Formats: sequence, C-alpha cells, structure tokens
Amino acid sequence: MLSFDPDKVSFSTGNYIDGQHSQLNEGQLQVHRPSDGKAYADIPESGSAVVAQAVEIAEKKRISSGWSTCSPRQRGAILRRWADLIDEDAPYLGQLEALGSTRPIADVINHEIPFTAEAIRFYAECADKYSGDLLPTRQDSLGMLIPEPYGVVGAITPWNFPLSMASWKCGPALAAGNAVVLKPSELTPFSTVRMAELAVKAGLPAGVLNIVQGSGLHTGSELVKHPLVRKVSFTGSTRTGAQIMSDAGFNGMKPVTLELGGKSPQLVFNDAGDIDEVAQRILRGFTANGGQACVAGTRLIVQRGIAPALIEKLVSLCQQFKPGNTWLDTTRYSPLIDHRQGEKVQSLVRQSCEEGCEVLVGGQRFENTEDGWFWQPTLLANVANDNCAVQEEIFGPVLTVQYFDEEEEGIALAQHDTYGLCAGVHTLSLPLAMRAMQSLNAGTVWVNRYGRSGDFIIPTGGFMGSGIGKDLGRQAFQACQRQKSVLIDF
Ligand code: NAD
Repeated sequence: MLSFDPDKVSFSTGNYIDGQHSQLNEGQLQVHRPSDGKAYADIPESGSAVVAQAVEIAEKKRISSGWSTCSPRQRGAILRRWADLIDEDAPYLGQLEALGSTRPIADVINHEIPFTAEAIRFYAECADKYSGDLLPTRQDSLGMLIPEPYGVVGAITPWNFPLSMASWKCGPALAAGNAVVLKPSELTPFSTVRMAELAVKAGLPAGVLNIVQGSGLHTGSELVKHPLVRKVSFTGSTRTGAQIMSDAGFNGMKPVTLELGGKSPQLVFNDAGDIDEVAQRILRGFTANGGQACVAGTRLIVQRGIAPALIEKLVSLCQQFKPGNTWLDTTRYSPLIDHRQGEKVQSLVRQSCEEGCEVLVGGQRFENTEDGWFWQPTLLANVANDNCAVQEEIFGPVLTVQYFDEEEEGIALAQHDTYGLCAGVHTLSLPLAMRAMQSLNAGTVWVNRYGRSGDFIIPTGGFMGSGIGKDLGRQAFQACQRQKSVLIDF
C-alpha cells in the first residue's frame, strides 16, 4: 500500500547551504500541489546575497575539504553511499516527490527513485575511470593533457523530473571533483533538498552541494552570473536556455550544457509490425508524465497504409485514461503541473482547431478534478505543417497526426525547423530504419522503441533549439572537467 495523506508529510522549506537549513527572509513564493491545486508551502525567493553565500561556501569547502583533490576512488565511494541512502529513503523521499510533482507515487517508487540512485552509481564508477593523456613530443620534453574540475558548477533543473534531473546534474559534476550549487524549479523545490541532506549523511563534505530556492529570473539568473560559478548545467525550456547561454557568455564566458525542449516525431512506416505494440509505444511516448517530458513524441507521422488501424487503436486506448491524485497508489496518469500550464495546453489546442485541425479524441480537461488540471489524451488530425500544434512544444498529452505516402515525404515531415531532441522510427526494415536514422535531425533516434532504457551509458541531448552538450553517458562526466595542456622541458 503506497497511498499516503499529503497533509501529513513534513519537510524543510528553506535553502540548504553548508549542510544547514536556512530560511532567509528575501520574499516568499507559494508552492502548489499539481493534483488538487492546493497551496501547501512557501519557499524563499533567494536573491544575490544568498546565492553569493551558497557559491562562496561551495568554492571554499571544495578546496578545504579536499573534495577536488582527494583520490577519485574516495569520491566514488561517497557517491555510492549516497545512492544507497536514496534507495533506503524511498518511503519518505517518494512521498515528498509525489506530493508536489506530477509523478504518481507508484511511478516514483518503482521507477524514479531507483533510476535516480542508479544514475549516481554510474557516475561514482566514472570517478576513477578517466585519465588524461601523454602527448607525443620531443624526447627531452613531456607533453600532457590533464583533466581537472571546473570549480563550482551552477545547476538549474526543471519541474518535470525533479529527482532524476538533480542526479543527472550532480552525479557527474561531483564525481569529477566539482562543487555544485543547484537551483531546483520553484514549482517542485523540496525533494532536491532531501537528496542534498542524504548526500551529506553519506559523507559528502557539507557545503560541497548547496541548494538555493527561488524563481528563475531572480535566483537562477544570479547563479548563472556569479563569477565563481565556472560552468552552468541547465535543463529547461529553449527560451530560458538561450537567456542562460547569453548570461553565461557575458559573465565569464562559462561553458554551458543545455538540455532543452523538443517536438519529437514518431515516424511509423507501413511495415512497423504488430499494431497493438506500435500503438502502445506511441501512446507512452506522448502521455507519460501527462506529456510533460522533453522527449515526448508528440508528432505522429504515419504512412497511409497502416494509418487507419493505428489511429483507431490509439483513439480507443486514449479513452481509457483516468485522472487521479498523485498520492494514491492506483494513479497511473499525471496531472499538468499547474493552472498556467493547463491554460497553455487549452489555448494551443483551441488555436490549433481554429487553424483547421480536427480533434479525434480528447481535446479538453477532465471534469471534477478540483483545482488540479488533468488533460485528456488528445489526437489532432488534419494538421498542416505550419499549425501551431506541430510547431510549438505544448508540454501536455497532445499528439498531432500527419500522413505520408513516400519515404522521403515522411522523413521531410519528421524534421522540425526549431527542435531536434529525439525521434522514433518504427519499421521492421533495417535498411529503411538506417536511412531514416541517418537523415533525421535529432540528438537521439529510437528504432522500434520510444524512450530511454536504464542504460546510463547512452547520452541524451538535442540538436539545434533542443540544446548543446549531453546529459548522461561518459560525455556528461567529461563535460564536467576542463583539460589543461602541460609541456615540460627536462
Ligand atoms: P523553464 O525553462 O521555465 O525553467 C527551468 C528552470 O530554469 C527552472 O528552475 C527555472 O526557475 C529556471 N529559470 C527560468 N528562467 C531563468 C533564467 N533567466 N536564468 C536562470 N534560470 C532560469 O522550464 P520548465 O517549464 O521548468 O521545464 C519544462 C521545459 O524543460 C520544457 O521545455 C522541456 O522540454 C524542458 N526539459 C528538457 C529536458 C531535456 O533533457 N532536454 C528534460 C526535461 C525538461
């Protein structure tokens, strides 16, 4: 029995700096529960003084505690303990996450927490597995390339997967010997603080991982601009990513990792195979987390032969969804994060209809869900390529349907002018899958599946407006180190 009473979960609402909870009075922001819209806590709107305090302590403790200079294996051991504590804390951490995020409790316990802990273990293993290089120079010289940590990494995360996003940012940065100051989304701020407490309990020196709360414009931008922040790792919207890239450029030319938005295609060919299986893949691709996933496959590009059977199946599956509060263990379908997101989805669906599309199923909010916003899984057909529902990231469970006859036409429709995060290709023909994979402008291509595996070795990251650099994989670890070239004459 995983269900719990959301009014009985207690937690700290302030910043977490130097291993201490603090509630500094710099203005407050109200936080709401997505499931029923109830305001349940306030967080501080941390300003420049608090951000500076967090960053300066991180830099000081990184050096004085020996975190940057100790044996990498020692760092790995602490990170492994941290991952174990996250797993052990699942009964409490899971409630905290399910309470304020869009993730139902069963999903958090069965997937999100193990996935978060395992990402940290992956980076614990990286800590002592990468070396620099000896470079061929004259015999009386020694040329070396030496990796070293940047210093303090400023990390900023979105609200859709608070725990795993924090692990993707902190795991590689800490394993590489950096300190981290993390600002979680102001919409889902609390579980990240619990993660940081557990890190200190596992042996991470206090102050090496600090959490600052507040809005993006106020707190996030101060973090990006602080002179002691030497690298910025951000996940969020394309618009914010562009602002962060500019701020990072004008305030110290900091390297950035930007994991941004998407509008990913699901390209289905006539020979895709079993209709039921393909329909399930497409369905999960655009409804998981209520469609609030960067990788959501929200554009179905389907070849005409298979289209009628696939659409019929999808419509019937969409009709089976039921809303439910995230603290009930029977809930499988997520609410939208808040009323602003709900109104955005509603207005884009309306506009799309005004531009000529036809609603095949859904198209509206579920009724009787208090002040929570649950959007019905929605299929929009007859959409022209310039329809707003094709062009814009809706960030809700809305799938556009476009048809094609020839392979080239399908691939052309799958390309997007702005985004290039992921793409799904569904065909049993290997040559066709390979041709499509090579042509698609997407940082990740999934063939006959849609979504990540539990293999942290496969990096994720977008092309074009979907971002710069990679999270996960060895690449994310290596991106947390700078390379120093050394030449020694004997
Ligand atoms: P958002 O860009 O509004 O906010 C993300 C974070 O940035 C929040 O913590 C916010 O407070 C902060 N922020 C906002 N403005 C800022 C500024 N000027 N300077 C510094 N920080 C600032 O995004 P969101 O609405 O929280 O998340 C949804 C978006 O995230 C979607 O576009 C989604 O596709 C994207 N996303 C991408 C990935 C990926 O891996 N590519 C993963 C998850 C989410």
